[in-house]
Amino acid sequence: MVAEKCPFAEKMVTRTVDLRSDTVTKPTEAMRAAMATAEVDDDVLGYDPTVFRLETEMAKIMGKEAALFVPSGTMGNLISVLTHCDVRGSEVILGDNCHIFIYENGGISTIGGVHPRTVKNNSDGTMDLDLIEAAIRDPRGEIVYPTTRLICLENTHANSGGKCLSAEYTDQVGELAKKHDLKLHIDGARIFNSSVALGVPVDRLVRAADSVSVCLSKGIGAPIGSIIVGSKSFIAKARRLRKTLGGGMRQVGVIAAAALVALQENVGKLESDHKKARLLADGLNEMKGLRVDPVETNIVYVEIEEGLHISAGKIVKNLEERGILVMDVSPSRFNSSFNNIQSVINNRNNC
Ligand SMILES: *Cc1c(COP(=O)(O)O)cnc(C)c1O
Repeated sequence: MVAEKCPFAEKMVTRTVDLRSDTVTKPTEAMRAAMATAEVDDDVLGYDPTVFRLETEMAKIMGKEAALFVPSGTMGNLISVLTHCDVRGSEVILGDNCHIFIYENGGISTIGGVHPRTVKNNSDGTMDLDLIEAAIRDPRGEIVYPTTRLICLENTHANSGGKCLSAEYTDQVGELAKKHDLKLHIDGARIFNSSVALGVPVDRLVRAADSVSVCLSKGIGAPIGSIIVGSKSFIAKARRLRKTLGGGMRQVGVIAAAALVALQENVGKLESDHKKARLLADGLNEMKGLRVDPVETNIVYVEIEEGLHISAGKIVKNLEERGILVMDVSPSRFNSSFNNIQSVINNRNNC
């Protein structure tokens, strides 16, 4: 009798390597233990001691006066932009390839009535200083102009493949903002990755910023939450706005406890993520038909050349059958000439 071919032989999955995103982590044992035993109280009333500890710690790390725990990075950016632009008819200058402009449902406009003015993002995540300056409205100008109030940067810049903005560049944008009496906000969802990759302390990286939004649920692997930091008066206004948006949470120390563990356990592991990402990129670059831009942090974007005659979607499916999870992030699924796959390395998920 001829042995039947095992139907799973070709797709034998012994373990999963999950590279979809750095957000797909599960809380560690230490995080769950901290959550179970967290001291809590009502944080809307300002009494939760664990949230207080997290906010105090983050303000210190970021070199700012105060901090506010928020449910997500999207809400952190929204609150920050709206706090700086609290007058109707405000305009914000931001990159045309940045997260706030592309992936946040246009919330700054639909909820805040803030007008976005985009400036071209370079492939390294920066915007040219002269283009930023040219986009600033002349306050003595005609009555037809909105009023520029804010500039937003993103560090690392996600859509550019996790590129780091230097402290020097950020300072230059900060000086430009000051010169024109504008505020500077940094979407620092992955600011710790940038700090580790550049070898520059995180407070130095954001010194020029009036506010920073930092995701705890990305590279450093907390299950939920973001933090915004800034001056005491900025955070006081932001706290009020958080309540308006429905982001005031009660005994939220349960979540903050996990974030405190993440800060302690995981910032030191980011360098290893970056090494793995570079290793993956080098390997992929040796394969015909694939192109990967230089990797600076934990994000690896793979471009599939047209000559390969296979779509990103198909490759993603093939990999999935072999236990490797990645994401199809082609800019348009209606235009097959752009095919991109994203893999994000985070040692806290199964790889
Ligand atoms: C993920 C991300 C956000 C938003 O964070 P959420 O917690 O998913 O709302 C903002 N900016 C950048 C650059 C991000 O990568």
